[in-house]
Amino acid sequence: MDEYSVARQRMVEQIARRGLREPRLLAAFERVPRHLFVPREHWPWAYADDPLPIGFGQTISQPYVVALMTDLLHLKGDERVLEVGTGSGYQAAILAHLAAVVHTVEFLPELAARAEKVIRELALDNVICHVGDGSLGWPQAAPYDAILVAAAAPDVPPPLLDQLADGGRLVIPVGGRGFQSLDVWERRGDTFEHEASIAVAFVPLRGEHGWGK
Ligand code: SAH
Repeated sequence: MDEYSVARQRMVEQIARRGLREPRLLAAFERVPRHLFVPREHWPWAYADDPLPIGFGQTISQPYVVALMTDLLHLKGDERVLEVGTGSGYQAAILAHLAAVVHTVEFLPELAARAEKVIRELALDNVICHVGDGSLGWPQAAPYDAILVAAAAPDVPPPLLDQLADGGRLVIPVGGRGFQSLDVWERRGDTFEHEASIAVAFVPLRGEHGWGK
């Protein structure tokens, strides 16, 4: 329990009211203290269903979108997961409660360091933080049963499809710099099926298969 327990419970109820009711998913949102992932001046708003600035022009996604993207991965608990765009580290912390191992890659070293500090303080030992261009994936630890991209790509980066395990799922916002479609890809052997979910607005994915530097 902490001073934000009640606010956090309300946030979880709101996610459930919007249709995401899987008990393991909701339990993960109950366990992760979102306020620790945002700058202290934003703590009073940490449990509203809104994105918040985390510095360097980046944002932590709104809780409902984090929940939806996580839900679309269909995690059972034994998966190896790759997240591209660590940002605050909040999404990685949620994934840590729902999968076996989470590799998360962040482009900006300062953000990566801050996220890793919170993740270590929470003793989420199954999260491994990396600094680099996640539009190339993280080939050293591939393949992954699930890949979540938290920044908007002009197209699906081919390395991410390559690094997906058979039966694996990839969730990624694809489209222009303003709005994108949240796409879900699933690998079946050497073929890929994909479908579009909702419209979203993410910060741009940088790097080789993103929008560049
Ligand atoms: N999942 C985050 C939200 C991240 S916002 C959270 O829970 O807080 C998107 C992040 O992607 C930003 O921190 C941005 O710096 C990072 N990013 C953008 N392009 C990237 C790339 N090519 N590789 C890794 N990270 C990238």
